[in-house]
Amino acid sequence: MKIFDFLKNTANNDSTQFNRRKFINFGCACCFTTVGLISKAQAQIPEVQKHLNAARVAAGKDLLPYLKLAEVADPALRDPKSLTPQQLMALPAPPPGKAFDNLYFVGSKWVSCWAITTSDGIILIDAMDNDDEAEHIIEKGMREIGLDPAQIKMIVVTHAHGDHYGGVGYLKRRYGPGIHFSEIDWQMMSTQLEFDRPYWGRPPKRDPSKDLALRNGDVIQLGNTKIEVMLTPGHTVGTISLLFDVHQGQKTYRTFLWGGTAFNFGMRPERMSRIQSYIDATDKARQIALQQNIEVFISNHNGYDEAVEKLATIRAQSQVGKNPFVIGAQATYRALTVMHECATATQIAWQNTKS
Ligand SMILES: [Zn+2]
Repeated sequence: MKIFDFLKNTANNDSTQFNRRKFINFGCACCFTTVGLISKAQAQIPEVQKHLNAARVAAGKDLLPYLKLAEVADPALRDPKSLTPQQLMALPAPPPGKAFDNLYFVGSKWVSCWAITTSDGIILIDAMDNDDEAEHIIEKGMREIGLDPAQIKMIVVTHAHGDHYGGVGYLKRRYGPGIHFSEIDWQMMSTQLEFDRPYWGRPPKRDPSKDLALRNGDVIQLGNTKIEVMLTPGHTVGTISLLFDVHQGQKTYRTFLWGGTAFNFGMRPERMSRIQSYIDATDKARQIALQQNIEVFISNHNGYDEAVEKLATIRAQSQVGKNPFVIGAQATYRALTVMHECATATQIAWQNTKS
């Protein structure tokens, strides 16, 4: 389907949709996998296919979205029907929802924003693309599900790409929360952005009196809630992933929010070290998944964790049933293994690139 037809089909009178749709001509956003850089011959190298097969086995039938990463090593695997980030942004936002007693989703079909409620206010994880989305999806969505945006005390941003920090400016002006990035990504934003798009809000400037520059192993605390920070470089050099507890009734589940999934380095010279750090981070993380019994594995793009579909399942339950976000530690291990094996296959294909 041509983009014009797509837009016509998704047109509605909502001004928010109009504002987001008009951005569609500006090229692809940061977190989409980069495809087409590896030739058919490189993709067919037996070592590449061996790791892609290992990824397929790890994905089973329940973790197929993570196999999108395989298309970087083997462009033949690309699904021609998959929508671009711009097309996903143009869709009406899905309804906000409650995943656990203390974890809520407010996001679009493209990018997620998670709200963690604590005894002393709300922590947001990421802030979407721009002011418009912060106002019409995050702020409006929070009100719809009974959360008061004035209670936002912190925004933790997983990495310095605009689809995660673009809405920070709006929320900062309205509510004055602390803005927390990794030290490395604060540095990246203050010098040279890796990616920028005209439809992204401007990167925030750090106020050292209240904005944290996070390092691996740091613990963020608000009220009764602690979030452990793990540096998981690759997607950006300073990408952070977050470990925390979620609650449902009397039950508590250890949760891992992965901060940057796609291999979007293109053919930049440092791609080999970036993918190696991703390979190392996913290996370390899957060991932690078993050690800490991490039963919930979520993402900041719901194309991976299928958060929108899982929330629809919860909404359709007539009484509290099995929570689809609780996948178990073995499945968390497998998801990280899919990512790890796809990254390894991509690295081998790149090693066999002449250019
Ligand atoms: Zn990104």
